[in-house]
Amino acid sequence: MKYPALLVLLAAVLYAPAHAQAPARPSPGAGLDPRIEKLIASISEERLQQLLQKLVSFGTRNTLSDATSPTRGIGAARQWIFDELKRTSPRLQVSFDTHQIPKARRITRDIELRNVMAVLPGRSPRRIYVSGHYDSVNLGARGQLAGNTRPPTEGVQARGAQAPGGQRGEVQRPGAQAQAPGEPAAPPNPTAIDPQLNPNQDYNVDAPGANDDGSGTVLSMELARVFAESGIEFDATLVFMTVAGEEQGLIGAAAYAKDAKAENIPIQAWFNNDIVGNSRGGDGTVDSATVRLYSVGPEDSPSRSLAQFTRRVAAQYVPSHGVRLIARSDRFSRGGDHSALNAQGFAAIGFRESRENYSKQHGPNDTLDGVDFRYLAQNARVNAAAMATLALAPAPLDVTNARGMPTIDRRPSGYDAHLRWTASPGAAGYRIFWRNAWAPDWEHELTVGNVTEYTFPHANIDDWVFGVAAVDAAGHESTVSVYVAPARSDG
Ligand SMILES: [Zn+2]
Repeated sequence: MKYPALLVLLAAVLYAPAHAQAPARPSPGAGLDPRIEKLIASISEERLQQLLQKLVSFGTRNTLSDATSPTRGIGAARQWIFDELKRTSPRLQVSFDTHQIPKARRITRDIELRNVMAVLPGRSPRRIYVSGHYDSVNLGARGQLAGNTRPPTEGVQARGAQAPGGQRGEVQRPGAQAQAPGEPAAPPNPTAIDPQLNPNQDYNVDAPGANDDGSGTVLSMELARVFAESGIEFDATLVFMTVAGEEQGLIGAAAYAKDAKAENIPIQAWFNNDIVGNSRGGDGTVDSATVRLYSVGPEDSPSRSLAQFTRRVAAQYVPSHGVRLIARSDRFSRGGDHSALNAQGFAAIGFRESRENYSKQHGPNDTLDGVDFRYLAQNARVNAAAMATLALAPAPLDVTNARGMPTIDRRPSGYDAHLRWTASPGAAGYRIFWRNAWAPDWEHELTVGNVTEYTFPHANIDDWVFGVAAVDAAGHESTVSVYVAPARSDG
């Protein structure tokens, strides 16, 4: 049997043993963009610290706290965020995204909720978001549970049971039922299980929220500055968002996501940062060199693809900081704003510090001294690398036809892998990725020219997963669009 040398080489590549955890590799030939390096380098630890100091000075940012005082509470805090973003750069279009939220569950009275957003217009309408939630909560105040004789039941993890120094660990179930399966019916007092349901709680008690989620808020604000000041003309429009109502069940993000869906706003990617400033876990373990990145499945979903992209780019631009991909929407029984975007069909992922200190969350001791600004700045750099690359790269291409079917087949021989994709404006070429269908990460890649189809002879499309990214002349690479087999019930 004789094969052309090229085919032998290809076969060797295709049938190379799969690595269980293929490390993220820089793409061959694609150098770093010095403009992005400069942007990342301009992220300031000092400014993050200054912003957070100011944010914490509003005492509380509880979504239901006093909105009329000029110095304390959520009204003063959101006005300061607005003014600070506006002051930062004339290139930023700053606005309130305002919603009237009727009384329901943890929203114990009708309120006006305001997200604050700053838009940096790009050449194209596709949008890339970074966010944190600026609201805070203090569930540790004694007295909130006064009058409750019934302690949280075993198996029912009451959100907020972690009073400072408490032993129960973190517990939070936004939107979850108050009862666990098998629990006797009708707990006598719902506020014993969820103190936020108590309309008589003191919403103006101190809730510094330095890490949760002052950290994600000032990260988003600092990125607004460095992107606006970079002088780079991005292809994508960038949005720097701080939202409210997270602690009551992702209320602000959900309201925005619903409108965005109704208005067909082309949200390409959303980077949510929530609790990203602490490097010392409550159990004493320290990790200031990695961050966790959660993304909802199934495998090869747009959110998963975005997470993989982020790790790949971060490994190039911020090699000193590891991105730990986690194939889950979020932590056990805990939610975040990215999930509100996922619920409307958008690609959104959530950054979380690697080691949490649960005893400092949702209490009066979530203070500045619990924030490691060097670590927070590293997390900001990871966000910046991914956002800048994504915003400069061509838009992702499409690997499905008008009926939503993947444009992959076995032609021409009937035993080949034949890939087709749509052209992406601005692309100078394309990069094909593939892996064993059991592997979590891409194992191989091949840069091809400015073509919109490619054939791997004798590669079985049932055994391999294929995807394609668009690459511009400067080497900026888009997220990978993956050929996903459609679900079918027949044989
Ligand atoms: Zn949070």
